[in-house]
Amino acid sequence: MKKVVILGAGILGLYTAYRLAKENYDVTLLEKSDFLGGALRSYHIDGYDIEQFYHHFFTIDNELVELFKELGLEDKILFNYATNGFYHKGRIYPLLMPSDLIGFRPLSLTGKFQLGLLMARIKLLKNPKELDRYTAKEWITKVAGKYVYENLFKVLLRSKFGENHEKASAAWFVERINLRSHVDKNGEKLGYLKGGFSQLIEILKNKLIQNKGEIIMKASVNEIAVKGNKAIYVKYNNKKTDCDYVISSIPPFILTNLIKFPERYEIRLNQLEYQPAICVLIGLDRKVTEKFYWVNIMKDSNSFGAMVEHTNLIPAELYNGTNIAYLASYVEKSSRLMRAPEEEVFKRYFQDLTRLFPHITLKNVKWFRVSRDFNTGLIYKKGIASLIPEVQTPIRNVFIGGMFNSYPERSVAKSVQLGGEIVEKILNIGIPPSL
Ligand SMILES: Cc1cc2nc3c(=O)[nH]c(=O)nc-3n(C[C@H](O)[C@H](O)[C@H](O)COP(=O)(O)OP(=O)(O)OC[C@H]3O[C@@H](n4cnc5c(N)ncnc54)[C@H](O)[C@@H]3O)c2cc1C
Repeated sequence: MKKVVILGAGILGLYTAYRLAKENYDVTLLEKSDFLGGALRSYHIDGYDIEQFYHHFFTIDNELVELFKELGLEDKILFNYATNGFYHKGRIYPLLMPSDLIGFRPLSLTGKFQLGLLMARIKLLKNPKELDRYTAKEWITKVAGKYVYENLFKVLLRSKFGENHEKASAAWFVERINLRSHVDKNGEKLGYLKGGFSQLIEILKNKLIQNKGEIIMKASVNEIAVKGNKAIYVKYNNKKTDCDYVISSIPPFILTNLIKFPERYEIRLNQLEYQPAICVLIGLDRKVTEKFYWVNIMKDSNSFGAMVEHTNLIPAELYNGTNIAYLASYVEKSSRLMRAPEEEVFKRYFQDLTRLFPHITLKNVKWFRVSRDFNTGLIYKKGIASLIPEVQTPIRNVFIGGMFNSYPERSVAKSVQLGGEIVEKILNIGIPPSL
């Protein structure tokens, strides 16, 4: 039996582990924390499961949908229309369809026209990657003017990258807009698993164990030893395990401390910078908005950039009638809120929520949770397109995949797709003779 050691039990680690164990590989999955699922982990509250960070999938996520079917989760797939909007001076304005532009008050008439021109220009672009030498700010300002940037896209970029919003790449921006253009005449459909993604994690874990795979929690990896361009063993918790293949889904800047890569490759991986996220998750006895799933907050909030009302996508009846909303933000590594007591973070975010939506008061709160993580996605900064690594590393039996080589957006579907690519390489090609 060929031995595979996998680092990280997020969706990529669990999926590759499941696939390879099914093919009779001897799999050891090493996870440094005491929970499975990585960024897709869930809370268990009042008898139901809810993701710590908001999660949905898209109609184009075919490989993920296929995986749900393969695992017997087909009847749990829900696709519902999601209403997205912008909160501006006490009102929420939808902006999904071109017709929404007519009543969109955050922009002046000239601004709407300039936005229309920008969208048309994006549609005509044949190779968005060429724009990677510009920041989104530079390119949007050039094409649509400062006004449109300041009054619309700055808000969106800030909600996605926090204080790093000015670094975002124009190539990433265009590809991201294209990714979100799959709307029909009624809007955009988003997918979710009735009962939560925790079911996916649980089934993958169980199937891995059934196929004699091994999961080691609280595994602190110390070293991946290399001899002659081939990884030979992995050392964790000061134990050694031999390996024929290594798959790593952990942040590249951590991996480069464990293995000796060629210097130029190491420098490239170390340039992939992660950003932390804070999500305050609140269970309420009433709705925040009547119908909006996703609300971008224009200038009115200084803590969270988006409010994601989960139960406007998925019925609250599935959560004992509780209305569930995420107050989502991306922050700097040095942010005090990453270390502050949970109560304090909740208080700050909730204050902003009640300022924006005064019908919500503390009396409406059934429960709250504060989720924080340092490594929740890349800062897709200028030049990023040429940094994103392939799944094959220069060490011939070491593969990498996960949110750091998901472009233009990290997602569960993309990790499954990258995991599939790695598994196919291992199954079909085996170890490339030389690189
Ligand atoms: C706020 C937020 C919202 C999101 N929304 C969506 C969404 O709506 N739709 C969507 O599809 N995706 C969404 N995502 C992204 C999605 O969750 C991720 O892209 C996906 O889960 C990444 O899975 P992964 O296995 O590649 O990485 P991860 O989930 O990051 O897994 C990596 C694992 O490695 C472990 N690890 C780290 N260091 C070590 C080490 N030294 N040794 C061993 N283990 C280690 C970590 O603990 C973790 O379990 C969201 C993410 C966040 C944070």
